[in-house]
Amino acid sequence: MKISKIEHLGIAVQSIDAVLPYFRDVLGLEVYKTEVVEDQKVKTAFMQVGEVKIELLEPTSPESTVQKFLDNGGRGVHHVAFKVEDGLSEALAMCDAQGIRLIDKAPRKGADNLNIAFLHPKSTVGILTELCEA
Ligand code: ZN
Repeated sequence: MKISKIEHLGIAVQSIDAVLPYFRDVLGLEVYKTEVVEDQKVKTAFMQVGEVKIELLEPTSPESTVQKFLDNGGRGVHHVAFKVEDGLSEALAMCDAQGIRLIDKAPRKGADNLNIAFLHPKSTVGILTELCEA
């Protein structure tokens, strides 16, 4: 697979509003888009940092995997998203063939107009990994 860059870092927060003063007033970053992703039960807020984005993730339901991450003591970086240049379906097939556990067997629609798929942290050295393509 050919990865061109880190597309974004997903950061889990209980409340986007509560953490915005830090990102906006201290770091000087600007939210350019907020979006609810129904099937992931999250509200997202995006900030551009050079070539990389930061995606804040706020759970919208107790069943959200982000809420479970927070409930289990998770804080801060929730996942790393890599941009795949030579086909997301092909990348997933290649991961599957190498014994990587796939959370998504096929690409699905993510936030910010991306097709995405997650790899399970149990087979990615503990890092929840998102592969995405524009
Ligand atoms: Zn993401």
